[in-house]
Amino acid sequence: MVEKNLCTGCTACVAVCKTKALKMIVDTEGFKYPVIDKSLCVNCNLCEKVCPAKKRISRDKFAEVYCGYTKDKNNLLSSSSGGIATHFAEHCLSMGGVVCGCAMDDNMYGAKHIFITKSDDLDRIKGSKYLQSSLDDVFLRIKEYLKNEIKVLFFGTPCQVAGLNEYLTTENITKKNLILVDFICHGVPSPLVWEKYLKEEEQLNASKAENVFFRNKSSGWKNYSLLINFSDGSSFCQPVTENLYLRGFVSNYYLRPSCYHCNFKKENYYSDLTLGDFWNVEKYAPDCDNKSGVSLIFTNSTKGSRFLSLLNNEVTYKKIDFDSAIKSNPSYSYSVKENYIRKHFFSKLKRKSVLKLLNRYCSDRFLSKVIRKAVVILGGN
Ligand SMILES: Cc1cc2nc3c(=O)[nH]c(=O)nc-3n(C[C@H](O)[C@H](O)[C@H](O)COP(=O)(O)OP(=O)(O)OC[C@H]3O[C@@H](n4cnc5c(N)ncnc54)[C@H](O)[C@@H]3O)c2cc1C
Ligand code: SF4
Ligand code: SF4
Ligand code: SF4
Repeated sequence: MVEKNLCTGCTACVAVCKTKALKMIVDTEGFKYPVIDKSLCVNCNLCEKVCPAKKRISRDKFAEVYCGYTKDKNNLLSSSSGGIATHFAEHCLSMGGVVCGCAMDDNMYGAKHIFITKSDDLDRIKGSKYLQSSLDDVFLRIKEYLKNEIKVLFFGTPCQVAGLNEYLTTENITKKNLILVDFICHGVPSPLVWEKYLKEEEQLNASKAENVFFRNKSSGWKNYSLLINFSDGSSFCQPVTENLYLRGFVSNYYLRPSCYHCNFKKENYYSDLTLGDFWNVEKYAPDCDNKSGVSLIFTNSTKGSRFLSLLNNEVTYKKIDFDSAIKSNPSYSYSVKENYIRKHFFSKLKRKSVLKLLNRYCSDRFLSKVIRKAVVILGGN
């Protein structure tokens, strides 16, 4: 099995194991990893063969890239970026297919992949959830849909898409009815940190969270906010510059270890389409800058190009220069760096309040103290 710090938790090995010798088990940081029951293992080696954690694919050519956004104002304001994902999903449903994407659990403490068959339910998977989602038996169910010739659109992180792709290849399942869509990925935070954080916010607000939006646009697309609506009718909305959970996420305190050495960057996207935020739109395509959310859309395959062309009526988009697009979003090409605080953070997490920890780590006083210490260690003065 691949080294723990490279395992993305994609579940391909668990899905491929015919003897059920592998199970996904949560570790102390809150991430799921495959664990083997040796008494059930028949040494077939399929789990090693399927694992995408170190594989490279070679594409014929680099992706083409477009910038774009939905023409539907409501969709734009309720999506994380340019609202393109929802139109992809609608097209798949209109062809009689099913859509698999990430939704919050009913209690809001976790995220998981679910299947959608009606457009009325698409809101459940709309928007970025800033925690790792559980896949459970999703790959097995997708295999069954494809065997029955039903179209499937799968949205996920690049590592989940790679895992699904490798699983279906190993199982000899034709992918002609499958569309794979991923996104430029900063990394996924620990579900345990999110659960602790939300429970503490619920305690402070003396009310249960009813729904959560990680990319609310009320203070802008770029200065997005975490919005929590509580069951007593109150709500909590804080922009990324102030919210402790979002600050910890963008500061890389509690991402999955594999996110610091991600194998799914540059030419190693397994998807047909990759979506992302066009953060520097005002510099590279000012005529597209709607201020409410503009996406980058990479077409990585002919199937992806054809699928994008179906959106002509719903989406405004135009081709842009590849280098400008990736310059505006370094996570397309590179993994983020592990924060030096990470180990300390997780060592304290079990016993301490996550809000207190984040308050301490995110405070300027703490950071300057650590930086002063680092300067001394490195021999500065
Ligand atoms: C954890 C995470 C990190 C990201 N990092 C970056 C980044 O560094 N740079 C960048 O440009 N864009 C990043 N994105 C993608 C970006 O936020 C938008 O989701 C993307 O641009 C598509 O926007 P949209 O408006 O078209 O669709 P949206 O309505 O945002 O939907 C996109 C799809 O993403 C899926 N999804 C949401 N959360 C998860 C999750 N936790 N795991 C798997 N699938 C999920 C949903 O199924 C949904 O269908 C990230 C997203 C996530 C979830
Ligand atoms: S070697 Fe085969 S039987 Fe053993 S865990 Fe891996 S897939 Fe399962
Ligand atoms: S297949 Fe996926 S879950 Fe299994 S070891 Fe490899 S990366 Fe981890
Ligand atoms: S950064 Fe890489 S390893 Fe981490 S969730 Fe994203 S694609 Fe997977």
